[in-house]
Amino acid sequence: MYPSKFDYVRAQSVEEAVERTSSHSNAKLLAGGHSLIPALKLRLAQPDLLVDLGRIAALKGISRHNGTVSVGALTTHATCAASDDLPKVWSEAAGLIGDPQVRNRGTVGGNIAHADPASDLPTVLIALGAQIHVQGTAGSRAIPADEFFVDLFTTSLEEGEIITRVEVPAESNQGSAYTKVFNPASRYAILGVAAQVAIAGGVCRQLRVAAGGSTPKAIRAHHVEAALQGQPLNDTTIQHAAAAIAEDLGEEVIGDMYASAAYRRSIAAQIAARALSAAAARAR
Ligand SMILES: Cc1cc2nc3c(=O)[nH]c(=O)nc-3n(C[C@H](O)[C@H](O)[C@H](O)COP(=O)(O)OP(=O)(O)OC[C@H]3O[C@@H](n4cnc5c(N)ncnc54)[C@H](O)[C@@H]3O)c2cc1C
Repeated sequence: MYPSKFDYVRAQSVEEAVERTSSHSNAKLLAGGHSLIPALKLRLAQPDLLVDLGRIAALKGISRHNGTVSVGALTTHATCAASDDLPKVWSEAAGLIGDPQVRNRGTVGGNIAHADPASDLPTVLIALGAQIHVQGTAGSRAIPADEFFVDLFTTSLEEGEIITRVEVPAESNQGSAYTKVFNPASRYAILGVAAQVAIAGGVCRQLRVAAGGSTPKAIRAHHVEAALQGQPLNDTTIQHAAAAIAEDLGEEVIGDMYASAAYRRSIAAQIAARALSAAAARAR
Protein backbone atom coordinates (compact mmCIF):
# COMPACT_ATOMS: atom_id res chain seq x y z
CA MET A 1 0.00 0.00 0.00
CA TYR A 2 1.17 3.59 -0.60
CA PRO A 3 1.48 5.95 2.37
CA SER A 4 -1.00 8.81 2.55
CA LYS A 5 0.42 12.20 1.46
CA PHE A 6 2.80 14.04 3.75
CA ASP A 7 5.22 16.95 3.68
CA TYR A 8 8.89 16.40 4.48
CA VAL A 9 11.51 18.59 6.15
CA ARG A 10 15.07 17.82 7.09
CA ALA A 11 15.83 19.37 10.49
CA GLN A 12 19.29 20.92 10.91
CA SER A 13 19.28 20.91 14.73
CA VAL A 14 17.44 19.41 17.70
CA GLU A 15 15.91 22.84 18.40
CA GLU A 16 14.53 23.03 14.86
CA ALA A 17 13.13 19.48 15.10
CA VAL A 18 11.42 20.33 18.43
CA GLU A 19 10.02 23.54 16.93
CA ARG A 20 8.75 21.82 13.78
CA THR A 21 7.06 18.91 15.57
CA SER A 22 5.55 20.92 18.40
CA SER A 23 4.15 23.64 16.13
CA HIS A 24 2.43 21.09 13.89
CA SER A 25 -0.61 19.10 14.97
CA ASN A 26 0.20 15.90 13.09
CA ALA A 27 3.98 15.61 12.63
CA LYS A 28 6.21 12.54 13.06
CA LEU A 29 9.94 12.29 13.56
CA LEU A 30 11.89 10.14 11.11
CA ALA A 31 15.12 8.42 12.18
CA GLY A 32 16.14 5.13 10.49
CA GLY A 33 12.62 4.60 9.14
CA HIS A 34 12.65 0.87 9.85
CA SER A 35 9.48 0.95 11.95
CA LEU A 36 7.93 4.20 10.74
CA ILE A 37 8.05 3.53 6.97
CA PRO A 38 6.24 0.15 7.26
CA ALA A 39 3.66 1.85 9.53
CA LEU A 40 3.16 4.59 6.90
CA LYS A 41 2.75 2.02 4.12
CA LEU A 42 0.17 0.12 6.15
CA ARG A 43 -1.46 3.49 6.97
CA LEU A 44 -1.18 2.68 10.67
CA ALA A 45 0.46 6.12 10.87
CA GLN A 46 -0.77 8.99 8.67
CA PRO A 47 1.23 12.11 9.57
CA ASP A 48 0.93 15.30 7.51
CA LEU A 49 4.59 16.14 8.11
CA LEU A 50 7.76 14.06 8.51
CA VAL A 51 10.64 15.77 10.33
CA ASP A 52 13.84 13.96 9.37
CA LEU A 53 16.47 13.87 12.14
CA GLY A 54 19.01 12.05 9.95
CA ARG A 55 21.47 14.93 9.40
CA ILE A 56 21.70 16.17 13.01
CA ALA A 57 25.30 15.31 13.86
CA ALA A 58 24.83 16.18 17.55
CA LEU A 59 22.52 13.16 17.90
CA LYS A 60 25.12 10.65 16.67
CA GLY A 61 27.90 8.77 18.41
CA ILE A 62 29.08 7.20 21.67
CA SER A 63 31.18 9.01 24.25
CA ARG A 64 32.50 8.05 27.66
CA HIS A 65 33.18 10.43 30.55
CA ASN A 66 33.10 10.40 34.37
CA GLY A 67 32.04 6.77 34.63
CA THR A 68 29.12 7.05 32.21
CA VAL A 69 28.60 6.23 28.56
CA SER A 70 26.39 8.52 26.49
CA VAL A 71 24.81 7.24 23.27
CA GLY A 72 23.22 9.71 20.83
CA ALA A 73 19.66 8.90 19.75
CA LEU A 74 20.67 8.62 16.08
CA THR A 75 23.45 6.12 16.77
CA THR A 76 22.84 2.93 14.79
CA HIS A 77 22.72 -0.57 16.23
CA ALA A 78 25.77 -1.45 14.07
CA THR A 79 27.79 1.29 15.80
CA CYS A 80 26.62 0.02 19.21
CA ALA A 81 27.49 -3.58 18.31
CA ALA A 82 31.06 -2.51 17.43
CA SER A 83 31.59 -0.37 20.53
CA ASP A 84 34.06 -1.30 23.29
CA ASP A 85 32.81 1.58 25.46
CA LEU A 86 29.30 0.20 25.95
CA PRO A 87 28.52 -2.43 28.57
CA LYS A 88 28.82 -5.85 26.93
CA VAL A 89 25.09 -6.56 27.35
CA TRP A 90 24.25 -3.62 25.05
CA SER A 91 26.81 -4.32 22.31
CA GLU A 92 25.88 -8.01 22.42
CA ALA A 93 22.15 -7.29 22.09
CA ALA A 94 22.79 -4.75 19.29
CA GLY A 95 24.68 -7.40 17.31
CA LEU A 96 21.67 -9.72 17.55
CA ILE A 97 19.16 -7.18 16.17
CA GLY A 98 17.58 -8.02 12.81
CA ASP A 99 20.04 -8.26 9.90
CA PRO A 100 22.91 -6.02 8.70
CA GLN A 101 20.52 -3.64 6.90
CA VAL A 102 18.39 -3.19 10.02
CA ARG A 103 21.48 -2.70 12.20
CA ASN A 104 22.94 -0.15 9.75
CA ARG A 105 19.75 1.94 9.54
CA GLY A 106 17.89 1.32 12.82
CA THR A 107 18.71 3.78 15.60
CA VAL A 108 18.69 3.71 19.39
CA GLY A 109 16.17 6.57 19.66
CA GLY A 110 13.80 5.11 17.06
CA ASN A 111 13.93 1.70 18.69
CA ILE A 112 12.99 2.88 22.16
CA ALA A 113 10.48 5.54 21.02
CA HIS A 114 8.62 2.85 19.07
CA ALA A 115 8.54 0.63 22.23
CA ASP A 116 7.81 -2.58 20.37
CA PRO A 117 7.44 -5.29 23.04
CA ALA A 118 9.63 -7.59 20.90
CA SER A 119 12.55 -5.10 20.76
CA ASP A 120 15.78 -5.87 22.54
CA LEU A 121 16.87 -2.42 23.70
CA PRO A 122 14.13 -1.75 26.30
CA THR A 123 15.20 -4.94 28.13
CA VAL A 124 18.87 -3.96 28.01
CA LEU A 125 18.26 -0.37 29.14
CA ILE A 126 16.14 -1.45 32.11
CA ALA A 127 18.83 -3.93 33.17
CA LEU A 128 21.47 -1.19 32.95
CA GLY A 129 19.43 1.42 34.84
CA ALA A 130 19.69 3.79 31.85
CA GLN A 131 18.59 7.42 31.83
CA ILE A 132 16.81 8.55 28.66
CA HIS A 133 17.44 12.23 27.91
CA VAL A 134 14.74 14.09 26.02
CA GLN A 135 14.23 17.65 24.80
CA GLY A 136 10.95 19.46 24.24
CA THR A 137 9.50 22.96 24.25
CA ALA A 138 9.57 22.98 28.07
CA GLY A 139 13.32 22.14 28.11
CA SER A 140 15.24 18.92 28.79
CA ARG A 141 14.66 16.11 31.25
CA ALA A 142 16.02 12.64 31.98
CA ILE A 143 13.64 9.69 32.33
CA PRO A 144 14.77 6.45 34.05
CA ALA A 145 14.30 3.48 31.69
CA ASP A 146 12.07 1.83 34.33
CA GLU A 147 9.59 4.71 33.86
CA PHE A 148 10.10 5.36 30.15
CA PHE A 149 8.38 2.19 28.89
CA VAL A 150 4.73 2.42 29.87
CA ASP A 151 2.92 -0.25 27.84
CA LEU A 152 2.70 -1.90 24.42
CA PHE A 153 4.07 0.70 21.93
CA THR A 154 3.64 3.37 24.62
CA THR A 155 6.29 5.50 26.32
CA SER A 156 6.26 8.40 28.75
CA LEU A 157 7.44 10.82 26.01
CA GLU A 158 5.30 13.97 25.99
CA GLU A 159 3.92 15.47 22.77
CA GLY A 160 6.76 17.11 20.82
CA GLU A 161 9.59 15.63 22.93
CA ILE A 162 12.64 14.22 21.16
CA ILE A 163 15.03 11.63 22.58
CA THR A 164 18.50 13.16 22.38
CA ARG A 165 20.66 10.53 24.08
CA VAL A 166 20.75 7.57 26.44
CA GLU A 167 23.16 7.44 29.35
CA VAL A 168 24.30 4.27 31.15
CA PRO A 169 26.95 3.65 33.82
CA ALA A 170 30.21 2.42 32.25
CA GLU A 171 30.96 -1.20 33.05
CA SER A 172 33.86 -1.53 35.49
CA ASN A 173 33.89 -4.57 37.79
CA GLN A 174 30.63 -6.03 36.45
CA GLY A 175 29.93 -8.69 33.85
CA SER A 176 26.85 -8.55 31.66
CA ALA A 177 25.12 -10.59 28.98
CA TYR A 178 22.02 -10.76 26.76
CA THR A 179 20.38 -13.98 25.66
CA LYS A 180 17.33 -14.31 23.45
CA VAL A 181 15.13 -16.73 21.61
CA PHE A 182 14.15 -14.93 18.43
CA ASN A 183 11.70 -15.03 15.59
CA PRO A 184 13.76 -16.67 12.81
CA ALA A 185 12.38 -14.30 10.14
CA SER A 186 12.80 -10.89 11.80
CA ARG A 187 15.03 -11.73 14.77
CA TYR A 188 12.72 -9.77 17.07
CA ALA A 189 12.76 -11.31 20.55
CA ILE A 190 10.25 -13.97 21.52
CA LEU A 191 11.96 -13.78 24.89
CA GLY A 192 15.13 -11.88 25.78
CA VAL A 193 16.90 -11.64 29.14
CA ALA A 194 19.57 -9.07 30.05
CA ALA A 195 21.70 -9.45 33.18
CA GLN A 196 24.46 -7.42 34.79
CA VAL A 197 26.28 -8.73 37.86
CA ALA A 198 29.18 -7.79 40.15
CA ILE A 199 30.91 -10.37 42.33
CA ALA A 200 32.76 -9.55 45.57
CA GLY A 201 34.12 -11.97 48.14
CA GLY A 202 32.93 -14.87 46.03
CA VAL A 203 29.25 -13.88 46.16
CA CYS A 204 26.85 -11.88 44.02
CA ARG A 205 26.95 -8.29 45.29
CA GLN A 206 25.08 -6.36 42.65
CA LEU A 207 22.60 -7.73 40.17
CA ARG A 208 20.13 -6.24 37.70
CA VAL A 209 18.05 -8.48 35.47
CA ALA A 210 15.34 -7.59 32.93
CA ALA A 211 13.20 -9.56 30.50
CA GLY A 212 11.39 -8.55 27.32
CA GLY A 213 9.65 -9.94 24.26
CA SER A 214 7.08 -11.89 26.28
CA THR A 215 5.22 -9.13 28.11
CA PRO A 216 3.55 -5.92 26.84
CA LYS A 217 6.62 -3.98 28.01
CA ALA A 218 10.03 -5.09 29.20
CA ILE A 219 10.12 -5.79 32.96
CA ARG A 220 12.70 -5.78 35.73
CA ALA A 221 13.12 -9.31 37.17
CA HIS A 222 13.08 -8.43 40.87
CA HIS A 223 12.36 -11.99 42.02
CA VAL A 224 15.37 -13.35 40.14
CA GLU A 225 17.57 -10.61 41.58
CA ALA A 226 16.40 -11.23 45.17
CA ALA A 227 17.02 -14.98 44.86
CA LEU A 228 20.67 -14.49 43.85
CA GLN A 229 21.72 -11.45 45.90
CA GLY A 230 24.47 -12.43 48.39
CA GLN A 231 24.70 -15.97 47.00
CA PRO A 232 27.71 -17.67 45.39
CA LEU A 233 27.22 -17.89 41.64
CA ASN A 234 27.16 -21.54 40.62
CA ASP A 235 24.87 -23.75 38.53
CA THR A 236 22.63 -24.59 41.48
CA THR A 237 22.06 -21.02 42.69
CA ILE A 238 21.67 -19.71 39.13
CA GLN A 239 19.09 -22.37 38.17
CA HIS A 240 17.19 -21.70 41.39
CA ALA A 241 17.16 -17.91 40.85
CA ALA A 242 16.31 -18.23 37.14
CA ALA A 243 13.18 -20.23 38.02
CA ALA A 244 11.86 -17.15 39.82
CA ILE A 245 11.42 -15.42 36.46
CA ALA A 246 7.97 -17.05 36.24
CA GLU A 247 6.86 -14.73 39.06
CA ASP A 248 8.41 -11.70 37.35
CA LEU A 249 6.64 -12.40 34.04
CA GLY A 250 3.32 -12.62 35.88
CA GLU A 251 -0.03 -13.19 34.20
CA GLU A 252 0.40 -10.96 31.15
CA VAL A 253 2.60 -13.25 29.04
CA ILE A 254 1.99 -12.68 25.32
CA GLY A 255 0.80 -15.48 23.06
CA ASP A 256 0.84 -14.76 19.31
CA MET A 257 1.32 -16.42 15.92
CA TYR A 258 5.05 -16.82 16.62
CA ALA A 259 4.93 -18.43 20.07
CA SER A 260 2.21 -19.31 22.56
CA ALA A 261 2.24 -17.92 26.10
CA ALA A 262 2.80 -21.49 27.36
CA TYR A 263 5.92 -21.84 25.16
CA ARG A 264 7.29 -18.51 26.33
CA ARG A 265 6.74 -19.49 29.97
CA SER A 266 8.40 -22.88 29.41
CA ILE A 267 11.66 -21.39 28.06
CA ALA A 268 11.95 -18.42 30.43
CA ALA A 269 13.98 -20.05 33.23
CA GLN A 270 16.40 -21.61 30.75
CA ILE A 271 17.04 -18.30 28.95
CA ALA A 272 17.41 -16.43 32.24
CA ALA A 273 19.91 -19.04 33.48
CA ARG A 274 21.97 -18.67 30.29
CA ALA A 275 22.10 -14.88 30.62
CA LEU A 276 23.04 -15.10 34.32
CA SER A 277 25.76 -17.72 33.70
CA ALA A 278 27.30 -15.69 30.86
CA ALA A 279 27.22 -12.47 32.92
CA ALA A 280 28.76 -14.26 35.93
CA ALA A 281 31.53 -15.77 33.79
CA ARG A 282 32.37 -12.28 32.47
CA ALA A 283 32.30 -10.77 35.97
CA ARG A 284 34.84 -13.37 37.12
C1 LIG B 1 13.02 -6.62 9.54
C2 LIG B 1 13.27 -5.94 10.85
C3 LIG B 1 13.82 -6.67 11.89
C4 LIG B 1 14.04 -6.05 13.14
N1 LIG B 1 14.58 -6.80 14.15
C5 LIG B 1 14.75 -6.24 15.36
C6 LIG B 1 15.28 -7.00 16.43
O1 LIG B 1 15.64 -8.17 16.31
N2 LIG B 1 15.42 -6.37 17.65
C7 LIG B 1 15.09 -5.05 17.83
O2 LIG B 1 15.24 -4.53 18.94
N3 LIG B 1 14.60 -4.30 16.81
C8 LIG B 1 14.43 -4.86 15.60
N4 LIG B 1 13.95 -4.08 14.57
C9 LIG B 1 13.69 -2.63 14.82
C10 LIG B 1 14.91 -1.78 14.45
O3 LIG B 1 15.93 -2.17 15.31
C11 LIG B 1 14.77 -0.24 14.62
O4 LIG B 1 15.39 0.18 15.78
C12 LIG B 1 13.39 0.22 14.69
O5 LIG B 1 12.79 -0.17 13.47
C13 LIG B 1 13.18 1.75 14.86
O6 LIG B 1 14.32 2.51 14.65
P1 LIG B 1 14.41 3.58 13.49
O7 LIG B 1 15.63 4.37 13.71
O8 LIG B 1 14.27 2.88 12.18
O9 LIG B 1 13.14 4.51 13.80
P2 LIG B 1 11.98 5.07 12.84
O10 LIG B 1 11.31 3.96 12.14
O11 LIG B 1 12.48 6.19 12.02
O12 LIG B 1 11.02 5.67 13.98
C14 LIG B 1 10.30 4.82 14.84
C15 LIG B 1 9.44 5.68 15.77
O13 LIG B 1 10.27 6.40 16.67
C16 LIG B 1 10.06 7.82 16.54
N5 LIG B 1 11.39 8.41 16.73
C17 LIG B 1 12.50 8.17 16.00
N6 LIG B 1 13.55 8.82 16.53
C18 LIG B 1 13.10 9.48 17.60
C19 LIG B 1 13.70 10.34 18.56
N7 LIG B 1 15.01 10.62 18.54
N8 LIG B 1 12.92 10.85 19.56
C20 LIG B 1 11.60 10.57 19.63
N9 LIG B 1 10.97 9.77 18.73
C21 LIG B 1 11.70 9.24 17.75
C22 LIG B 1 9.45 8.01 15.17
O14 LIG B 1 8.66 9.18 15.08
C23 LIG B 1 8.61 6.74 15.04
O15 LIG B 1 7.39 6.90 15.73
C24 LIG B 1 13.71 -4.67 13.33
C25 LIG B 1 13.17 -3.94 12.27
C26 LIG B 1 12.94 -4.55 11.05
C27 LIG B 1 12.36 -3.75 9.93
